[in-house]
Amino acid sequence: MSVAAAPASASVAAPARELDVVIVGAGFAGLGMAAALRERGLEDFVVLEAAAGLGGTWRDNVYPGAACDVQSVLYSFSFAQHPGWTREFAPQAEILAYMEEVAAARGLTPHLRYGRRVTSARFDEARGRWELETACGERYAARALVTATGGLSRPREPDIPGLAEFEGPRFHTARWETGADLSGRIGVIGTGASAIQVVPELAPSARALSLFQRTPPWIVPRADRARGAFSRGLWRWCPPLQRLARWLTYWRLESRVVAFALQPSLMRLVERVARQHLREQVPDPELRARLTPDYVIGCKRILLSDDYYPALQRENVELVTEAIERITPRGVRTADGRERELDALVLATGFHAADAMAPFPLLGRGGRSLDEAWRAGAAAYKGTTVSGFPNLFLLVGPNTGLGHSSMILMIESQVAYAAGAIRRLLARDLLLLDVRPDVQARYNERLQARLAGTVWASGCQSWYRSASGQNTTLWPGFTFEFRLRTRRFDAGSYEEVPRGARRAAEERTV
Ligand code: NAP
Repeated sequence: MSVAAAPASASVAAPARELDVVIVGAGFAGLGMAAALRERGLEDFVVLEAAAGLGGTWRDNVYPGAACDVQSVLYSFSFAQHPGWTREFAPQAEILAYMEEVAAARGLTPHLRYGRRVTSARFDEARGRWELETACGERYAARALVTATGGLSRPREPDIPGLAEFEGPRFHTARWETGADLSGRIGVIGTGASAIQVVPELAPSARALSLFQRTPPWIVPRADRARGAFSRGLWRWCPPLQRLARWLTYWRLESRVVAFALQPSLMRLVERVARQHLREQVPDPELRARLTPDYVIGCKRILLSDDYYPALQRENVELVTEAIERITPRGVRTADGRERELDALVLATGFHAADAMAPFPLLGRGGRSLDEAWRAGAAAYKGTTVSGFPNLFLLVGPNTGLGHSSMILMIESQVAYAAGAIRRLLARDLLLLDVRPDVQARYNERLQARLAGTVWASGCQSWYRSASGQNTTLWPGFTFEFRLRTRRFDAGSYEEVPRGARRAAEERTV
């Protein structure tokens, strides 16, 4: 039998598809960027998405109880306000449906390419193009690259010995196994924003639930409420009413910055609300003591819940505060030597957020990798551009996260800034736009100085800070300040190389 030779095309790399812009990721940031490009008349772009659908965080996090903890009237695009939210804090499925509607209504669907995991990107300085490869062997060459891969998209598995030995179903909240049997003895590790939503949902149908807490969170009332047909109809009939509600919510949340970032001593007032909530919901002083945090409220993300404390007081739920020693094939052993047998293990252990890591290998000028540039900690200019990585725009980049309001506000600011830069790049036929290193360094010095005086630096261990203790995730001020700073693309802070200049220089050397 003869062996057929592999088709020549298999060994020869496919030609790269040339485009103005490639956006990586189809969550809120990627969709927002795509909508902004279209609005500016730019159509020569694609959105490469690794998964089989859009949605990002809201496609990945399908655990029972997943919902937003920012009011939906604000947690939505300013250009696509949605009167139909059925609750004050919309559940995951509704947010995902909203994103799908926006993509369709804004004509983004033809630009979306699913199942395209970008594996590398390299800047070709001579051509002023980012060259990308995907896992399925496709190649793209784009004048501008926008990464919109999310700040909380890489689940963090805990480094607990024996984790891989557990014999039952074991999965992270962001990788939920919908078919898993969770009617037996369940263990949940972690007590962050994901855990406090999933525990009240799992507890009623589980035979027993053991919740392993390392650090108790501060929790304030959520006060979620259904929005009935009347309220929805009112916003539909009179859009200015919805805009007013959004405006009021915006300023109410924005006022929190005063305590978080300017006068952390004011956090004591918020702590009083949380203590009162705990007292009202947990009568048992011993349990209450174990649920009382020992750090300043706000240092870690403040959580919102009305059903978490009641769930912990169910007969079939146990709060375990002894440290976990190891995971065994049948359960979890704590430092007091006790082993709890479990049928399934849920890891609500958060994400790699503050790790200085490029979303995929990214090589900038001179072949320098972004991981190398970020060895001392992730840093960017206005959270969006990095010196040595021209024509690259990072959405939800370093220090653009919020502890007090809707991330979509920050995303829209970054999108406007990046769109301004891209328009300049194309309109002036520039080879590259590269933020000046001194500008970036000065920006970050000021940013870190401001962060030093905030509640996030008051001494707790949180995902806001990297292993070295630097806060590389949060924006230290009001969102309107960030909006003002990113309103216009400040070309003066950038090195600009026109295409002609490079050609002329080359001709001179020949
Ligand atoms: P998280 O806030 O980072 O919480 C992770 C939890 O796992 C913490 O309680 C942590 O304890 C614990 N943990 C981690 N490693 C552990 C280990 N080795 N042993 C024992 N415990 C361990 O993660 P998350 O709850 O997924 O939330 C992350 C962020 O996602 C939130 O802050 C929020 O921004 C976002 N989020 C939002 C919503 C929403 O809008 N409703 C919902 C979910 C998530 P320590 O505190 O001691 O580290």
